[in-house]
Amino acid sequence: MKKILLGVGLLILLFVYGCQQTTSEGNIAKTEVQFIGDQKVLVESKIVEDDFYTYSLHYPEIEAEEWNKEITEWVEGRLHRFLHEVSSLRTKDVHWQFELHIDFEMFHLSERFISMKMRESKFLGGANTEQRTVTFNFDRIEKRFLELSDVFQKRSNYLQTLSELSYEKLMDIPEMQELVWDEHFQSGIDPFEENFAAFTIDENKLHLFFQHYQVGPRSVGAPSIEIEVEEISSLLNNKYASLFLNEKQHDENEQIENEPMVTLDVTEPHPDKKQVALTFDDGPHPTYTSQVLDILSQYEARATFFVLGNRIEFHPELLIRMMQEGHEIGNHSWSHPKFTNLTEQEILSQLNKTTAEIEKVVGQQEIIVRPPYGDTNEFVQQLIPYPIITWTVDTEDWKSRDRDQIIQAVKEQVFDGAIILMHDIYPSTVAALDEAIDWLIEENYELVTVSELLVRNNDEALEAGSVYSSYKK
Ligand code: ZN
Repeated sequence: MKKILLGVGLLILLFVYGCQQTTSEGNIAKTEVQFIGDQKVLVESKIVEDDFYTYSLHYPEIEAEEWNKEITEWVEGRLHRFLHEVSSLRTKDVHWQFELHIDFEMFHLSERFISMKMRESKFLGGANTEQRTVTFNFDRIEKRFLELSDVFQKRSNYLQTLSELSYEKLMDIPEMQELVWDEHFQSGIDPFEENFAAFTIDENKLHLFFQHYQVGPRSVGAPSIEIEVEEISSLLNNKYASLFLNEKQHDENEQIENEPMVTLDVTEPHPDKKQVALTFDDGPHPTYTSQVLDILSQYEARATFFVLGNRIEFHPELLIRMMQEGHEIGNHSWSHPKFTNLTEQEILSQLNKTTAEIEKVVGQQEIIVRPPYGDTNEFVQQLIPYPIITWTVDTEDWKSRDRDQIIQAVKEQVFDGAIILMHDIYPSTVAALDEAIDWLIEENYELVTVSELLVRNNDEALEAGSVYSSYKK
């Protein structure tokens, strides 16, 4: 993605060319339309000069109301403070211009997420310009600003890792090398949230910005470091990990590239934990599937989605999200017929069309199949060229449509190695999920995909045409 940086260079250009709207002599207020990818940005520029001070403000407006409010308030707050400081200082005999400059740098802008850095430079006299860096990371779907702790798995020791990586990378900066024993440096990268509060995300990096004096004396300025996604991938929260990857824009008319998605966060098996595989059939559903994904992501839980081929083309983004967040996608036929009523050709067509559709969206992968209704017989089994997955715990969520009954079914029937059947097309299933997962984790269960459950301990690979309903020890 293209980055835009408005700094001194543009400031000069604005003076020369940008006077479309002049508020009073020498002052400029201007809105410029820019596109970053397919996202429209209105860049607001305000430049004011009077006898005592100069200020220039550059900040973006995006089609995201909460975002605009926060950014505008921050900019206005900084300006207000500056004008107040100027008014208390201007009574003195000063021979310089007070200055305030605010500009921004966009690191990520998509329909889902915005990551931006803003920099303030202020001169109120004396030898130095005060600098401050703030960052704004915004989830456009949930309409909220993210802290660093949102981006990482809650139980991971990400602060320690960031502290160590900061040490390593800051030592690559020549001016920093003599500061190894400096106490600023030591405390400025201690593993505390506030030391890493200024961060941005782009396609494959986490950027950390240190403030003036945070990691050393003025001479080292306000350094920043870049951390590659590979260095922290096992610590990232699945939900936001996908932001580090090249997001593809899915235009209705756009051909989706047939390349495998990268799956982050491959968890190591825990020999001391019990395992269970949650499975969700009949989606993707525009509302409930994404809610299921949100809940799974809060718990770093993985699951398997047996999707219907005829729904994929309407919601390819949901399959992409499943893959990016480490879930497994299985084939649940094209249109949900009973396989035992079909001919050989009809069965193969139901399966192959769906597999082709899955591959088109997320790339080739090992496919597992769940026949609709789990309905199968010997004839069907010998036809299906993939492992066949049924279940051991039926929550009957399609029948009860009752949150408490679904939770109860899980609690009563689950065991180490079980496959649990649910459907990501009912609000009652979504409503039950939070408590059910919370309980499973309390009971020392690890939530894994079907393939992970079945091939744990490096058992032999799954066989085409065999039926699996749980992990057999
Ligand atoms: Zn089904």
